[in-house]
This record gives sequence, C-alpha cells and structure tokens, in this order.
Amino acid sequence: MNKQKLLIHVCCAPDALYVLSLIKENYEVCGYFYNPNVFPEEEYKLRLKETNKIAEILKVKLFEEIYDNDQWFTLTKKFKNEPEKGKRCDICYTMRLEKTAQKASELGFDIFTTVMSLSPWKKADVLNRLGRTFAQKYNINFLGADFKKKDGFKKSVIMSKSYGLYRQDYCGCLYSMKSLKEKEA
Ligand code: SF4
Repeated sequence: MNKQKLLIHVCCAPDALYVLSLIKENYEVCGYFYNPNVFPEEEYKLRLKETNKIAEILKVKLFEEIYDNDQWFTLTKKFKNEPEKGKRCDICYTMRLEKTAQKASELGFDIFTTVMSLSPWKKADVLNRLGRTFAQKYNINFLGADFKKKDGFKKSVIMSKSYGLYRQDYCGCLYSMKSLKEKEA
C-alpha cells in the first residue's frame, strides 16, 4: 500500500531526529524548516545546518522557507513581555503552522504536522487546535500529536547526544534568549 505524503515542520535537529525516525516508517516524509522566530541569524543558520545533517542521515528531503524574522518581530512585538507558553508563543506557533499547511497543500502533500509538541515547553493542545484549523483552511489533513509522550523528549536527548548534535539552551526568539540570561544572572 502506498504511504501518505507528509510534510513535517521541523525547528531543530534534535527534535527532527527523534520525530522523523518515529514517523518515517508510516509516511513518505519531507521536512519543512520554517523558523522566522530564531534569533540571532547565526543561531538560525546553525540550527538549519544541524537539521540538514539529520535530513541527510535519514535520507529525508528538507525544504527551507525564507527567514522572515522582521515579520515575526512585527507580529509578536505587542507580546514581547509574555512568559514562555504565553500569547507570544501562540502567534509564533500560528505563523509556523499556517505556512506549513499552505506549503503542504501547494506541493500536493496528503497531510502535515510539526515536531514542536516534542518539547516540554510547547503546548500540544494549542498546536493541535491550530493544526486542525489550518488543515480546514488549506483543504489538507493534519496529524495531531504530542510527541513528548512515552518519554519522547528524554529519548530525543539520548539520540541527539549519540549523534553529537548541537542542542540549543533557549527556545529560539530574542525574548526567550533574554529570559534564559536573566535566570542565569
Ligand atoms: S518562546 Fe519559543 S515558541 Fe515562544 S515565541 Fe519565543 S521562539 Fe516562539
């Protein structure tokens, strides 16, 4: 039986490694790197480089979207003081999921999803609700998931260490970087 074609939004190599390894068995998978939230640009390039490594290892095609960081700042600036998991994050998820749904539909994929629910700091219920909304809007299916379940996050840490992958210590945006520095001070 032919596998369904799935486009998966990926944000970093450690998350991509675990989730892609998990779902590759059941879907014909391509990755989609769209992360305008990541700051500074050097960090964006590093995460992309590491994700490309994983794509090569797993033999998965990876599409890279433009890095529209200015647009991200414009959309989120009202919520720059929100804590992680607050309103700013909902906008950040929305931006990335909508673009993934749009791209998946344009390229003729059957279904789309994101690796983001692997992170203990991401709200799977919100991601899944947004995914279903954009699936309807772009006339495509959405694979709802909470990849952190069944020790997903823990397993991803072990796997990424074994591949010597770079693992970031902040979520991605300038504000999450600042809040980490404040905690460390
Ligand atoms: S903390 Fe993470 S999810 Fe929230 S806005 Fe920043 S990059 Fe996006």
